[in-house]
Amino acid sequence: MCGIVGYLGERDAYPILIKGLSRLEYRGYDSAGVALINGNGNLVIYKSKGKVADLDNLVKGKDLSGSTGIAHTRWATHGEPNDVNAHPHFSESGNLALIHNGIIENYKSLRTELSSHGYHFHSSTDTEAIVQLIEYIMDSHHITLEEAVPLALGNLVGAYALVIVNKKDPDSLIAARKGSPLLIGVGENEFFVGSDATPIVEYTDKVVYLDDEQIAYMRKGKEMVITDINKVKKTPVVKKLNMSLSQIEKGGFPHFMLKEIFEQPSALETSMTGRLYEKESGVKLTGIIDNKERILAARRFIICACGTSWHAGLIGKYILEELTRKPVEVEYSSEFRYRKPVLFPDDVVIAISQSGETADTLAAIQLAKESGCFLFGICNVVGSSIPRTTDTGIYTHVGPEIGVASTKAFTAQVATLIQLAIAIAELDGREPELRREIISELVKIPSKIAKILEQDQMIADYSKTFTYARNFIYLGRGYNYPVALEGALKLKEISYIHAEGYPAAEMKHGPIALIDEEMPVVVIAPRRGNYEKIVSNIQEVKARKGKVIAIVTEGDTEVKSMSDFYIEIPDTIDCLTPLLTVIPLQLFSYHIAIAKGRDVDQPRNLAKSVTVE
Ligand code: GLU
Repeated sequence: MCGIVGYLGERDAYPILIKGLSRLEYRGYDSAGVALINGNGNLVIYKSKGKVADLDNLVKGKDLSGSTGIAHTRWATHGEPNDVNAHPHFSESGNLALIHNGIIENYKSLRTELSSHGYHFHSSTDTEAIVQLIEYIMDSHHITLEEAVPLALGNLVGAYALVIVNKKDPDSLIAARKGSPLLIGVGENEFFVGSDATPIVEYTDKVVYLDDEQIAYMRKGKEMVITDINKVKKTPVVKKLNMSLSQIEKGGFPHFMLKEIFEQPSALETSMTGRLYEKESGVKLTGIIDNKERILAARRFIICACGTSWHAGLIGKYILEELTRKPVEVEYSSEFRYRKPVLFPDDVVIAISQSGETADTLAAIQLAKESGCFLFGICNVVGSSIPRTTDTGIYTHVGPEIGVASTKAFTAQVATLIQLAIAIAELDGREPELRREIISELVKIPSKIAKILEQDQMIADYSKTFTYARNFIYLGRGYNYPVALEGALKLKEISYIHAEGYPAAEMKHGPIALIDEEMPVVVIAPRRGNYEKIVSNIQEVKARKGKVIAIVTEGDTEVKSMSDFYIEIPDTIDCLTPLLTVIPLQLFSYHIAIAKGRDVDQPRNLAKSVTVE
């Protein structure tokens, strides 16, 4: 959440910062701001409520000179989104400006203490306490900013990624992180700071990922120095960025979300390349092969995730239990970390997160680590915190996902969990027939998704019918129950229509009371799975005059005849149906949201990459 950009070098900073902010806008978009040390050596700050474009309008005609600067796009946690609460925040003297991602939990006591020393607070944010604290430590200890930063950070409780500029030292930037991502692009005599790689990729492919409690000191024309908060020097590890500019642009689509929905055939193919071997009928995952003993000895698998990743985790449970016959638990990371879960050293904990930065999931695996569990990560963003914390794992490798509503990351997580289940079953020779069948079907999934996407226009036309709806119910059984949850979540996220996902048979234990002629009910009813059972559930909906929108297998006649509208998917085996049934649901949500005039890539109150708990 929140976007951070920083620049220090020879070029004009503002164009780099504003472009970086627009690339990062998917991470937070309630307000934005920039601080520059301009050509006259003054520290100027411009900030405003609203989008990055509003900031860019605000600064028209202003002095935007300077080659040192920081910029921020906010996702408010403390204090409403307004001009004053927007970052950067500055210190009492006005010499320091700071941008921050995360939450400072002890900000109230810090504010009280600093106020008693004559420091004035202008915003309602937790962030302002950081910059004031740093200046207070500089002044009271008579030390430099470099010396004060680690001392101040040692007094913070909570999470941060932050960047500071100092008017008195215009050729330097200081950045630090704990619990929120931050990386530094290293160019020729220049540095770029970003909360992810998107603002950096067009300038350099050399990046340094900061670790928790590390501070980076950047100075024009000098090598970067990294220390921990105890001032112990660390050697910067420069990595090569594996991202291209075209991956973070819309490529002719009106929205990132639609682009990412349409990317799924190729994204899934890339994701499975080098892992799935159709001829040998096997799956090769180094993380599994290298840790064979530990995986085979697992007492159980515990999947920790949030949101869409949690839905993928539920599908993972079904397939892992079917193929490995080991018990699998699926946990909301936020609940898991705060109750007292019973954990054993022979548990394998699987953390799923698109960004690899989800704060609650990171905390959940840290907890599991303390109990000696084996940690396995399934993430998309290479070099992010979860892959760096876990013992091993798999990248989904679907390229950057920028639409706030997750689409291609979800299908890739599901495909990855299926491959994981096959690889584990392979270790002790379980279910050879079923494994072979799944593999031979899995390779056909990308072209089957492409076929579903051909129905886009028809789905768009039909979606318009539902702009009146205030509620939706989504029903599915077995492997498609988590897809019902995911379909409902997609609709909520981007159209703001209330939607509930339910296991179809549970409907009569409550939600059936909601059904009348106004209520659209989306039923996921592929030919495989509990088909006859779901047919009965549809009858129950029809008997109460609900409107049925069905996802059916090509050639189906029975469900079609009972539905008000249907979308066909090609046939596949039961455990792979989620990879197909979710596609029309993604398109359906997208088109309803468009018909309602919603901002699908930046839906209200949401942000990509939930780095706060
Ligand atoms: N907690 C800070 C605020 O509310 C930072 C939020 C963010 O990460 O954008 O201003």
